[in-house]
Amino acid sequence: MKNLWDSAEAAKCKSDLDLRVYSSRLLGRDDTLVLHGGGNTSVKVRERNVVGEEEEILYVKGSGWDLETIEAHGFAPVRMAHLLKLAQLETLSDPQMVNELAVNVIRAGAPAPSVETILHAVIPHRFVDHTHADALLAITNTDDGETRIREIYYDDVITVPYVMPGFELARACAKKIQAELKPTTIGMVLLKHGMFSFGATAEESYGRMISLVERAENYLKQRGAWELPPIGPMGPIGPMRVQLAALRRDIAETAAFPVIVSTDSNPKSLAFARAGNVREISQRGPATPDHILRTKRLPMLGHDVNGYATAYREYFSRNVPRAKETKTMLDPAPRVILDPEFGLGTIGRSAREAAIARDLYSHTMDVITRAEALGGYRALSEEELFEFEYWDLEQAKLRRAGKPPTFAGEIACVTGAASGIGKACVEALLKRGAAVAGLDVDPLVTTGAGQRPDYLGVECDVTSGEAVGAALEHAVRTFGGLDMLILNAGIFPAGAPIESLDDSEWRRVFAVNLDANLTLMRECYPLLKLAPRGGRVVVIGSKNVAAPGPGAAAYSASKAALTQLARVAALEWGAVSIRVNTLHPNAVFDTGIWTDDVLKTRAASYGMSVEEYKRNNVLKTEVRSSDVGELAAELCGPVFAKTTGAQIPIDGGNERVI
Ligand code: ZN
Repeated sequence: MKNLWDSAEAAKCKSDLDLRVYSSRLLGRDDTLVLHGGGNTSVKVRERNVVGEEEEILYVKGSGWDLETIEAHGFAPVRMAHLLKLAQLETLSDPQMVNELAVNVIRAGAPAPSVETILHAVIPHRFVDHTHADALLAITNTDDGETRIREIYYDDVITVPYVMPGFELARACAKKIQAELKPTTIGMVLLKHGMFSFGATAEESYGRMISLVERAENYLKQRGAWELPPIGPMGPIGPMRVQLAALRRDIAETAAFPVIVSTDSNPKSLAFARAGNVREISQRGPATPDHILRTKRLPMLGHDVNGYATAYREYFSRNVPRAKETKTMLDPAPRVILDPEFGLGTIGRSAREAAIARDLYSHTMDVITRAEALGGYRALSEEELFEFEYWDLEQAKLRRAGKPPTFAGEIACVTGAASGIGKACVEALLKRGAAVAGLDVDPLVTTGAGQRPDYLGVECDVTSGEAVGAALEHAVRTFGGLDMLILNAGIFPAGAPIESLDDSEWRRVFAVNLDANLTLMRECYPLLKLAPRGGRVVVIGSKNVAAPGPGAAAYSASKAALTQLARVAALEWGAVSIRVNTLHPNAVFDTGIWTDDVLKTRAASYGMSVEEYKRNNVLKTEVRSSDVGELAAELCGPVFAKTTGAQIPIDGGNERVI
């Protein structure tokens, strides 16, 4: 544990709320304390309202905010006086609580206050910090967790047995605080859930959190349960993209929507998935209840998706009779896979969701390993976990959730993705919710779309079959399969009349514009065949197919052959629901080849201005790479679900083509 408090940084804060933002971010920076929206913080501030009355306001983390990146407006300001009255009630239903919190927020447009708001209010200290620290979970998730906590903290902390978060937990804590809080109390341990610390200043509360968690770490160290066992090299993993795509299809069928399956074959994950006792230790439940929403209660072992789904349905029917309200069963598909071949796999409706599940489970493996070393990992009971997973507040979120984006859970591969039309295709697909693997010889492809979980840029020469195989393997391990293929990579050589056309130049053009696409189609076929909604291929052809130009023999012939290849593919692949369509763009000038100088020279040679030259088509409109990208993405979407083997010009209308 490292105390990251920097007095110089803290001195820049102008108010208690600024300090609250500053130290919340310090907590958020340490992934052994909080992860992805986990944990929450608050500060109590006295303020004068618009009619001059002084009020105490609790600024508490708003839902949807992450401690690492929270800002002042990420805190919801709630009237303390009312919160304290609520804490006195005997009962308060979840919908009532949500309503009471919402109507006592004093700023329009503020985020919904955390479901732990009342709990923050009943702690009398100004600053309150709450985390789900790995070290604490490793200790409390054991049989004698409570005894161990007393051994570590004496009466420096109040210990609260597990209670479902929300009003019940706030009530339980309020009672404990009333009975046990002393001037020397610095925190509160919620067994199998997390740690609270509090203090008069941001620095004090934060410092107490760090020192409390440090004491937990030291306890584990003294018992040889902190250092994770060293892991030797695991050896290479052979190609598995087709098996993975098949597994993803099974999961998508069970979930009833396409999913991203992201694998993580680092030594830790492999060692955990291959451990002799994995069947036992992985089937006890999550480290802290709120992980369940991202990871489900249990990981799937191996590839038996049907078995997993059956067990999930049984778990639902076993537990649902106890529920007070009607519950809608969530999809029975797993969110975490432990597999001896690839290690850890995580599933989400988007690459971001899969990445969150990966981070959560990566920490869960550490917690389980340490708790096992301490004497045995024990999670919450099935009943307690069901109650959390089917909490009415979470079910309400489900009911509110809008329609997912068109390509949610789907994966596209785009060649020539570093610039021009390829880059525009990447952007159009990302915008519609797809995860995208971009391939290009240009190393810019790796950073082109910025750092985001739904984009993988792979430097790849598509004329090398080996490089294509490796790139697809990488893409499928990252996202789980392939639904859409955009064949865009191509070269446009300098003009040359046939009589002086060089053999090697001819072959070079064909190698990129034609042969590489055959390799890609052949290698992608077994993956596209497994796409949950059917595979889609979009070939970027050229106006030159229908209307070739003199001096462009190699280019025009290669694109014509590519078009013919696409037509045959449409015929051959229709039976396995793969659609293949071709776009014929023309005069797309916002790409790398068309520098201002080239444009000027070209326009001048036709006696036109650059503007006239760009719009030299029937519609007198400029065709941009984004127009082509948008159409390519639409061709993969539901509007064109019944179309295959089509050739669509995107050229503003060309008299020779028409
Ligand atoms: Zn919590």
